[in-house]
Amino acid sequence: MLNVKKNDKVKILSGKDKGKIGTVINILCKTRQVIVSKINVITKHVKASNGHTGKLIKKEAPINISKVMIVCPQCKKSVRTKYNLTKKTRICRICGVNL
Ligand SMILES: [Zn+2]
Repeated sequence: MLNVKKNDKVKILSGKDKGKIGTVINILCKTRQVIVSKINVITKHVKASNGHTGKLIKKEAPINISKVMIVCPQCKKSVRTKYNLTKKTRICRICGVNL
């Protein structure tokens, strides 16, 4: 069970996008990675084939889940969430709102 869900706002804790905030667009459970909109963008070169010309595409590369922190929509702070097992909800440790 990962703490991060799709559409969560997360803050990047390390790497070239450190300090930026983005929205989670995909979660890779197996590798414990997330893909965050406009964060960790890499330029990929697609080789020419079948008569198409090669081109550069920009794409978000996955980042390890330990390098992001959820940003609470209420108190706007990046928080480590607490998982409430009885209610099966995540709670902001600072303001107590359900995330
Ligand atoms: Zn909060």
